[in-house]
Amino acid sequence: MKELIRPKSIEAFKQAQQFIPGGVNSPVRAFKSVGGTPLFIKRAKGSTLIDIDDNAYIDLCLSWGVFILGHSHPLVNQAIHAAVDNGSSYGIPTLQETQLAETVHHAFPSMEKVRFVNSGTEATMSAIRVARGFTKRDTIVKFEGCYHGHADHLLVAAGSGVTNIQGSTSAGVPIDFTRHTVCLPYNDKEALNKYFIENGRKVAAVIVEPVACNMGVVIPKNDYLAYLRQITEEYGALLIFDEVITGFRLSYGGAQEVYGITPDLTAIGKIIGGGFPAAAFGGKAEIMNMLAPDGPVYQAGTLSGNPVAMAAGIATTAILAQEHFYEHLSTKFDTFIDELKSIVINKDIQLNSKGNMYTLFFNNAPVHNFEEAKHSDQKRFALYFHNMLNRGIYVSPSQFEGNFLSEAHSESDLERILKAIKESI
Ligand SMILES: *Cc1c(COP(=O)(O)O)cnc(C)c1O
Repeated sequence: MKELIRPKSIEAFKQAQQFIPGGVNSPVRAFKSVGGTPLFIKRAKGSTLIDIDDNAYIDLCLSWGVFILGHSHPLVNQAIHAAVDNGSSYGIPTLQETQLAETVHHAFPSMEKVRFVNSGTEATMSAIRVARGFTKRDTIVKFEGCYHGHADHLLVAAGSGVTNIQGSTSAGVPIDFTRHTVCLPYNDKEALNKYFIENGRKVAAVIVEPVACNMGVVIPKNDYLAYLRQITEEYGALLIFDEVITGFRLSYGGAQEVYGITPDLTAIGKIIGGGFPAAAFGGKAEIMNMLAPDGPVYQAGTLSGNPVAMAAGIATTAILAQEHFYEHLSTKFDTFIDELKSIVINKDIQLNSKGNMYTLFFNNAPVHNFEEAKHSDQKRFALYFHNMLNRGIYVSPSQFEGNFLSEAHSESDLERILKAIKESI
């Protein structure tokens, strides 16, 4: 096998570091946990990324799950071009915002009203604000290993006990800002029950990734989501599903459709923007009506509902809404996962998968939460990552991320990926 060489990317990274902190605009891109230097990309089409050294890679990261149709889908691009020719922002309402909001509502009936924002971070941050405004309570419960964007009060580390004051996972966040956030282990009904017995009436909302994707893919145990629904209802707290990754990915209606659980509020992002900075949050009308201008909860955005992003979202969801789209994708994926299972068996590797996303953990015990995910051998992961990269496969560059498939991945792509995994592990 010929090693791919990347002299231009290496030079570009040096240049970038002069003007951009760490050379990147989002930290995981810098390859810190796997070593080496990031690729600089000049083009992408379908399942393939092309770097500035003209190497081609099959992409399993897909801009962190955005491109369920693959990169540069012709119909999406056509819609984007048409939109931008009419102007790229007005700060005045457009028909497209209502159209996409209606589409979101049809996909997610629990989102009776929808507001568009520019990132998943804004979506969860605003969902929490409206939850607090509605319940007139302050406490938020989140789960260790679940990521909800980089708002101050969501970057909270788990303490050693639920009554301990918990610090932030980031410098620059005053302890006072995290005081109202409690971080509990994922998939642990007892810990939640114990917390709720003492504090349940103070809880504004429980926010969860219904299928966790930001500690690697970790799926909820049997009745875990049903339990979250039940206990929040019992104590008058709201349940927020962060479906920024799972929305429009696990199925058209996201994890809530797959598991048959109805949250009070939902955040979606990634896929809905069709490659542009758009995300949304929504839920019961009586809750969402708390938002300004009708209600007292302030929330706003200069570029929110941006017409180019709306066009990309409308074109993308129109394809996703076609009959059998998800069936085709999951048939393809199920075969892939079955073969992957047979490759990693007895290799001290855990394969966690759901829908069309998966993670390989390099350890010998099942992974149900962040504590267990952290037992993965990061050195082995880094080796695996570079082995894959040199075989022309771009895996998400951290152990604690999901890998994604798209409609654009062909049978021969999947064969190449499986062969590369067999050699790389
Ligand atoms: C990516 C992500 C976010 C944050 O979205 P940004 O657009 O990066 O701000 C929030 N929640 C989940 C589950 C995510 O995967």
